[in-house]
Amino acid sequence: MGNSKKIRIAIDGFSSTGKSTIAKQLAKKLSYIYVDTGAMYRAVTWYAMQHNFIDNDSFNSKQLINDLDKIALKFKWNEKLGYATIYLNKVNVEKEIRSLAVSKLVSKVSTISEVRKKLVAQQKKMGKNRGVVMDGRDIGTVVFKDAELKLFMTASANKRALRRYKELLDSGDDVSYDAILKNVEYRDYIDSTRDDSPLIKAENAIEFDNSNMSLEEQFDRIYNLALNVINK
Ligand code: C5P
Repeated sequence: MGNSKKIRIAIDGFSSTGKSTIAKQLAKKLSYIYVDTGAMYRAVTWYAMQHNFIDNDSFNSKQLINDLDKIALKFKWNEKLGYATIYLNKVNVEKEIRSLAVSKLVSKVSTISEVRKKLVAQQKKMGKNRGVVMDGRDIGTVVFKDAELKLFMTASANKRALRRYKELLDSGDDVSYDAILKNVEYRDYIDSTRDDSPLIKAENAIEFDNSNMSLEEQFDRIYNLALNVINK
């Protein structure tokens, strides 16, 4: 693999379509870096929550925009987990950002152009040496418009909510399936209809509906697609 061509793989799609699972596996197999851009938007949301800029009823986006220079995000490799976890101002917030409380507010924060501008600049830097698998909502349309491989993941809302529900239960969060389903549908709506960088399939992205596809089958197909591009 050492001397072969390195590419950028953009994986976009709706919430909880298994993007990050595939992206992590792919990065591992190709010895690429994996960047979870959702974690970055979640960490900014966590910061806004900690500073009382946002709650379920109100959002003072001006205060958040004023504070953007004070927000430093960093990914650090975690040997035990086998992937990088996110640090907000030197504090590991990987657990906090996965809560339903953050999921409920993150799409509002992600509509703010100033937030997007800051995070997209950092994401572009992380991909400048290629050899990267990045997942999110605007990777193939904004961050790496010229990515060598673009994927777009979909699955039925029910399947996605069920996956997310199991994940949260496993991590000890006490949540109801209905609340998760509502959140998944709500985020899809906000993410696809916002003005700045809405979630849409890039023209040249390959679409995967994985409602009825096993993870192994999906991974094999995507890995082969990547090898085809790398060896071209
Ligand atoms: O991928 P994940 O579900 O963790 O993303 C959380 C939220 O962050 C999304 O619902 C979306 O509002 C926002 N996001 C975004 N652009 C990205 C990645 C995530 O707007 N590239």
